[in-house]
Amino acid sequence: MASITVREPVDIVVVGSGASGAAVTWSLAEDDFKVVCIEQGPWVDPKTYATNSPDWQYLQRTKWDYSPNVRKLPQDYPVNDDESQIKVVMYNAVGGSTIHWTAHVPRFHPSDFRVKTLDGVADDWPISYFDLEPYYDLNDEMMGCSGINGDPANPPRSPRQMPPVPLGHDGERMARAFDNLGWHWWPSDSHINSIDYKGRKACNFCGAVGLNCERGARASTDITYIPDAVKLGGEIRTNSTVYEIATNSSGKVTGVNYYNEQGEPEFQPSNGVVIAANGIGTPRMLLHSKSTSHPNGLANSSCMVGKNLMFHVYAGANGLLNDLPTPTYHGPLALIIMSQEFYETDPSRDFKRGYTFQIGRGQGPAPTAIGDVPWGDNHHAEFNRRFGKNIGLGAIGDDLPEEVNRVELDPHLTDRYGIPSPKIIYRVGENSKKLLAHAVDQAAKVLETAGATNITRNALSTNTGWHLMGTARMGDDPERSVVNKFGQAHDADNLFIVDGSVFVTGAGVNPTPTIQALALRTADYIRHDRMDLKS
Ligand SMILES: Cc1cc2nc3c(=O)[nH]c(=O)nc-3n(C[C@H](O)[C@H](O)[C@H](O)COP(=O)(O)OP(=O)(O)OC[C@H]3O[C@@H](n4cnc5c(N)ncnc54)[C@H](O)[C@@H]3O)c2cc1C
Repeated sequence: MASITVREPVDIVVVGSGASGAAVTWSLAEDDFKVVCIEQGPWVDPKTYATNSPDWQYLQRTKWDYSPNVRKLPQDYPVNDDESQIKVVMYNAVGGSTIHWTAHVPRFHPSDFRVKTLDGVADDWPISYFDLEPYYDLNDEMMGCSGINGDPANPPRSPRQMPPVPLGHDGERMARAFDNLGWHWWPSDSHINSIDYKGRKACNFCGAVGLNCERGARASTDITYIPDAVKLGGEIRTNSTVYEIATNSSGKVTGVNYYNEQGEPEFQPSNGVVIAANGIGTPRMLLHSKSTSHPNGLANSSCMVGKNLMFHVYAGANGLLNDLPTPTYHGPLALIIMSQEFYETDPSRDFKRGYTFQIGRGQGPAPTAIGDVPWGDNHHAEFNRRFGKNIGLGAIGDDLPEEVNRVELDPHLTDRYGIPSPKIIYRVGENSKKLLAHAVDQAAKVLETAGATNITRNALSTNTGWHLMGTARMGDDPERSVVNKFGQAHDADNLFIVDGSVFVTGAGVNPTPTIQALALRTADYIRHDRMDLKS
């Protein structure tokens, strides 16, 4: 190996610039910490987004695919998910997976932090909803939240920045169906602009749903937190892949070793390190950072690093709404309304915890033709019957943690630098199976009530591993958890983890506002209680 260049020391290195890394970088830069965020991917120019190309549907299945194993871009590390019922998706670039995300941002319920106490399952979190509330609010301010107050399923909260994204004819039809059943529904909270916000335009319902947004109507951290962090003096070092967090003989972290843009090894010394590489990338990095002081991998004296992987389980039903004035592919995907009728534990059901229903819109012509419509003589007729009519009702289920579900280092597969790839071992648990069976039946009922035809049931979605959680969990007990309630490693007090790895349970909602709120809380802790890390 070539000799290693040693860079000027900084206060804090942040590994990863996605939802969490961007938030923490901004917050620390705001308090004059000398902070460098090291990101393995490049900046992505919104002009190059697939949605700007007439071939966007082809690109959606190739270099803009959700899966790194399909995209195979230079910065993507391959993921061995052969032994996982759910396949991993993520994006590696400035902005991380928010480059691809759908931006549906419901919050956890207060009960989600107390599932052991309330339901006798998994563990309680060492914090409450109310510890996170101010950080949820700050994050909404930074990302821009569309939504409306008054949801009876959630605690009262401060107003969102923008009114809800319009429901559209499809959303209104589905809302009426929930009303007819007497079931809860509420306009979805989304980090998508319903009106212009902070220099970013409102959503124009252009229709290429589920894939990027050149207008900037959908928030991603490359256009929210990161420009502000850079203005405040934070540095984003791109195309730089961290391969090891370095430690000294007393077990403290001393900085990170990484390959720079030219593929040459460098060492970035720092007073502290924040890892924000997501629920797969973070355990990978910790397990790969073995040393004399951390022989099981960094911060792994509990042997909990990589264990308790949660994805969220998805199932639901689809149908055709044949008589709407507008096609169902117009507008943001999955962001119309949500229902939390079946969110909390009900002792009359055979499973604990619950799920949120999200409505998913229809697809473009190519995915409809190759996905939904059977081949054969009737292909064109069937296509015409279905295209623009498809509506989906998906349940996102609370996926309780189990130690057997885990991330390990693959003994053979590596990335372009020879760093071991993650190997995912995951199977859907018994509680989740019962929860999903319930959800599929209820989804079909809503679609029937909405007057949908051709209703099909989907018992388990498998290409939906986009919520990566639990693999370096938070807790008070150093023998059962990796970090404490501030995201600080039990085994190294100048190491912090801020992504979904720290989740104790996954709840039945999309995780990113909770990930970002936790990241901002950890940053606040560093700002106020770890001034020793500031030079
Ligand atoms: C298609 C899709 C749709 C989604 N929709 C929603 C939604 O509607 N709502 C919701 O709440 N969530 C959604 N998500 C999930 C959401 O994107 C993630 O929860 C969120 O981005 C996680 O933030 P993070 O900071 O933990 O990780 P990421 O955003 O994944 O960022 C991690 C970053 O770390 C970098 N990194 C990793 N390893 C290294 C290394 N060794 N060296 C340097 N850099 C490294 C990566 O390149 C990446 O940029 C979706 C995700 C996808 C893929």
